[in-house]
Amino acid sequence: MGSPADCQPEIPGLYVSVPFCRGKCRYCAIPTRATALPPAERYRDALKREAAAARRPSSGFGSIYFGGGTPLTLSAAVLGRILEDIRGIFPLVEGAEVTLEANPGVLGRGDLELLAAAGFNRLSLGVQSLDDEELSFLGRIHTSGDALQAASWARSAGFRQVGVDLIYGFPGHTIHRWRRTLDRVLSFDPDHLSIYAFTLEPGTYFQTAVREGRARLTGEAVILAMDKAARERLAKAGYEYYEISNAARSGAVCLHNLRIWRGGDVLGLGAAAHSLVSGRRWRNIADAGAYMKAVEETGSGAVGTHLVDREGEILERLLGGLRLDEGIPFSILPNGDERFEESIHSLVTDGFLETAGGNIRLGPRGRPVADSVILEVAAALAP
Ligand code: SF4
Repeated sequence: MGSPADCQPEIPGLYVSVPFCRGKCRYCAIPTRATALPPAERYRDALKREAAAARRPSSGFGSIYFGGGTPLTLSAAVLGRILEDIRGIFPLVEGAEVTLEANPGVLGRGDLELLAAAGFNRLSLGVQSLDDEELSFLGRIHTSGDALQAASWARSAGFRQVGVDLIYGFPGHTIHRWRRTLDRVLSFDPDHLSIYAFTLEPGTYFQTAVREGRARLTGEAVILAMDKAARERLAKAGYEYYEISNAARSGAVCLHNLRIWRGGDVLGLGAAAHSLVSGRRWRNIADAGAYMKAVEETGSGAVGTHLVDREGEILERLLGGLRLDEGIPFSILPNGDERFEESIHSLVTDGFLETAGGNIRLGPRGRPVADSVILEVAAALAP
């Protein structure tokens, strides 16, 4: 479990969205409801109804990922019961990866023991920083001590893999502090790291603060230096980047996310979940209350269902696959489109893309500016 070869594209994954959080982080634009008391049992019931109405994959699901939001706002006991409901409805591949995203501020030792006993085997901790001033500035509800404690409890509770999420390059962030967080994180030897550069999202506290001159964005040169510092530090510690923002110890890649980046099928349950099943894509209603009402009345919270055509499929594979170290197979690219081929050729000549075996992937000049390169490739594809 956990190496790229273990991610078989024909086996689908299951995503469970829990759109509730205790508070609102200052950088986050995810449509979650901030509450200490979500309607946990009603939400569980809606998930169960939606699952019961969905088609069962004959192979079983190869991975389950509980994300959000902060799933633990529902409580560890309710999450355990939701996992039990899912297992009663869908077949699972033996040894399936079952991930829980967890906020260290909503997590006790007993919770982790209960979750591990219920069948969760991979924990993705939203650590973000190990500097208490930064955590408070970002609007996080936990301290660095909470995060370190949660990681240690997760290990002793028996989770097979413990991963952490980090964020860098937010207003006022310095390379010195970033290096210190990296060193502290690596001291507890996580299996997996997701490391994202700060982006200024619409509707967030930071967007207003920047507009009003109360915060200043970190410059691009510093962001690039932070990315370089992380890559060097992680390489020295024996991690490999398998995606532009994700690195893992050997055998510890996140199979669920790899499936998505490779264009595999994923059924999404819960408010705001997205699904891709047998060439059909849809999303669920984002508002939790409206989602529960729709499922209670019709058995489904889906909106915007459409078939993905060939062009859409290529575009999705490009957007996901070019983020991967392995890249995407040439065979999925359009054949005989002169404009597209010219554009790819010039990106390869300039070192932004490179060929490796039968695949095309980001080149050395392309990795630091991945989003721009991917957008350029996508634009060349547009009719
Ligand atoms: S805990 Fe996660 S989902 Fe919730 S507000 Fe913070 S960043 Fe957003």
